[in-house]
Amino acid sequence: MPELARVLILGGTAEGRAFAAACADLPGLSPISSLAGRTTAPLLPHGPVRIGGFGGVPGLVDYLRSERIAAIVDATHPFAARMTANAVAAAAATGLPLLVLRRPGWTEAPGDDWHRVASIEAAAALVPKLGERVFLTTGRQTIGAFADVDACWFLARSVEPPEPPVPGRLDVLLDRGPFTLDGERSLFTAHRIDVLVTKDSGGVAPKLAAARELGRPVVLVDRPPLPADIQTAATVEAATEWLTTRQRCA
Ligand code: NAP
Repeated sequence: MPELARVLILGGTAEGRAFAAACADLPGLSPISSLAGRTTAPLLPHGPVRIGGFGGVPGLVDYLRSERIAAIVDATHPFAARMTANAVAAAAATGLPLLVLRRPGWTEAPGDDWHRVASIEAAAALVPKLGERVFLTTGRQTIGAFADVDACWFLARSVEPPEPPVPGRLDVLLDRGPFTLDGERSLFTAHRIDVLVTKDSGGVAPKLAAARELGRPVVLVDRPPLPADIQTAATVEAATEWLTTRQRCA
C-alpha cells in the first residue's frame, strides 16, 4: 500500500465506528468512513465521513479510483447484503484488498426457546403460532412484512419511524441502543410481550437474555450468506492486524 494509505471503511455499525477509532491510532493510514444515510441523526465515527450510496458497483469503482483508495474494510451490518456484494464486486474490478469485518452471530444457550427462520416473511408466518403480543426488533424496513398478520399486536422498536404498510395493531417505540437487561425486562413485562422477533445480528443483546429469563420464545431471522472466497475478521483487533500486516508487506 502507498505511504499514507487511504482506507475506505463501509460502516453504519458499532464495529465500523470502533474500527475507525482504531485506525486513528495507526501510523500511515488515512481512513474515511462511509454511511448509507438511512438515519437522520447517525452516530458518526471518528475521522472523515462521507454519507450516501455510491451508485451501485460502477459508482463504487469510480469512487475507489478517484479517491485513490488502497484497501476496503466492509464493516456494514450482517444484513446489509447488497452493500457487501457491491464491495466484493468493486474490489474484484479494481484489484483492491477487501476485508469483511463481521461480528459472530448468536448461539442458543440453555433456557432459550429459539425458532430460526430463513427470511423475514417466514418470521411473519410463524409469529401467530407462538404468541399474540410481539416485540419486533428487526428494523423499520422489515415492519411491512408483518402488515397482514392480523392475529397479533406489535411493539416495533426502531431508530426511525416505519413507513406504510404496517400492521393494523402497532405501537412504535423510537429508540436506539445500547439497551440494558433491566430495561428490556421492564419492557417485556410492561407490554406483556409473549414473543420476540429479531435478526441474528450478533453483538450484545440483553433482549435475548430477557426473553430467556421470562421464558419467551424468540424468532430469529438467519443471516444472508456471505459471498464465497472473501477474507473476514470477527473482531476489530483482527481487522486492525489484517490492515497493519498488509501495510508492512506493501
Ligand atoms: P444494503 O441493503 O446492503 O444496501 C443498499 C444500498 O445502500 C447499497 O447498495 C448502497 O447504495 C447503500 N449503502 C449501504 N451501506 C452503505 C454504506 N455504508 N455506505 C454507503 N452506501 C451504503 O444496506 P441496508 O441493509 O439498507 O443498510 C444500510 C446501512 O445501515 C448499512 O451501512 C448498514 O451497515 C447499516 N445497518 C443496517 C442494518 C440492517 O439490519 N440491514 C442494521 C443496522 C445498521 P449504492 O448501491 O447506491 O452504493
